Amino acid sequence: MDATTVKTVIDPVKLEKLAEVAVKVGLGLERGQDLVVTAPIAALPLVRFITKHAYMAGAGLVSTFYSDEEATLARYRYAPDESFDRASDWLYEGMAKAYAGNAARLAISGDNPMMLAGEDPAKVARANKANSIAYKPALEKISNFDINWNIISYPNPAWARQMFPDLPEDAAVARLAEAIFTASRINVADPVAAWAEHNANLHKRSAWLNGERFSALHFTGPGTDLTVGLADGHEWHGGASMAKNGITCNPNIPTEEVFTTPHALRVEGHVSSTKPLSHQGTLIDDIQVRFEGGRIVEAKASKGEAVLNKVLETDEGARRLGEVALVPHSSPISASGILFYNTLFDENASCHIALGQCYSKCFLNGASLSQEQIKAQGGNSSLIHIDWMIGSDKVDIDGILPNGGRVAVMRKGEWA
Ligand code: ZN
Ligand code: ZN
Repeated sequence: MDATTVKTVIDPVKLEKLAEVAVKVGLGLERGQDLVVTAPIAALPLVRFITKHAYMAGAGLVSTFYSDEEATLARYRYAPDESFDRASDWLYEGMAKAYAGNAARLAISGDNPMMLAGEDPAKVARANKANSIAYKPALEKISNFDINWNIISYPNPAWARQMFPDLPEDAAVARLAEAIFTASRINVADPVAAWAEHNANLHKRSAWLNGERFSALHFTGPGTDLTVGLADGHEWHGGASMAKNGITCNPNIPTEEVFTTPHALRVEGHVSSTKPLSHQGTLIDDIQVRFEGGRIVEAKASKGEAVLNKVLETDEGARRLGEVALVPHSSPISASGILFYNTLFDENASCHIALGQCYSKCFLNGASLSQEQIKAQGGNSSLIHIDWMIGSDKVDIDGILPNGGRVAVMRKGEWA
């Protein structure tokens, strides 16, 4: 495919609207702000629209870094063994410097979810670990919400083929493009206004949960009986929120979740995944884990179990939770019935939990807490943050009050 032209099956008017939403709603980019973009090479047509709208919004400088599937695979096939313990630390140091100087960050996802499925899991794990370590200084500025950031998706042909293997490539790309536009609320007369209304609804849900001050959530369903203690002084978030640089942004597009920080030491019971997890090229399916004192002590999967266990060995925090999120089963992404093999979409179809790093913003006065205080209140820390889906129309959730009382939060996957 010629990456420099828009595939005619992707409506260029809608693609430009997606770019406009990314800049105005996703980033809330301010006049004079620089922008760092990362994207798969196939997303070039979207990058060009984003660059146009960023400069129209007054961006100082837009810098884009592309990834390419063939180049990534060439490393796995031909690079010397030592290569897999290395990462481009100089690049990430530069990104961290840009964010320290108040640059915004936009990531375009859309890589082939099965890209690394045939590669050596040990090499994949080593390369991921090296990358996580090198990326940490830049990632911390994002996960601590120092700057406004956003992730959106492009209907990459390799991803579309994975999702719709029975369709010819053009039809698959067209279907994925429409699914992305619908989920991202682009298929309406005024997408920017639709996002304002959606953000108001998510703010209403998180305000209710913050008022209840639950000490734990109890999930029950097929293969699941899990009590997730919530961190001391946790705070629920959802929809647009303000970064520490004072700019209001929507980090994820689409987004349907309200989410908070679990207590790293207070998770008990067992839980089963309700959708497959596509993790950096490997599909992990039918995950079943058991927690004791917040730590995963048993982990199984029908597919990708070796990769799951490697992930859990990343560091001590990889076996504990950093996020719990609520999404109604009737969300547009769930209603589409499509499995995207992409966490950005699939996590918004379902309630989920995340292994690893917590978000410091999910604490009352989170911006002013030190790392030690966050840890003391139950916030987890890790090199990873991996969301996986545990909600469905068969899962009920109760909120447990500090006095032991119970409040119905969700019944059969819907807000009670
Ligand atoms: Zn989430
Ligand atoms: Zn997450």
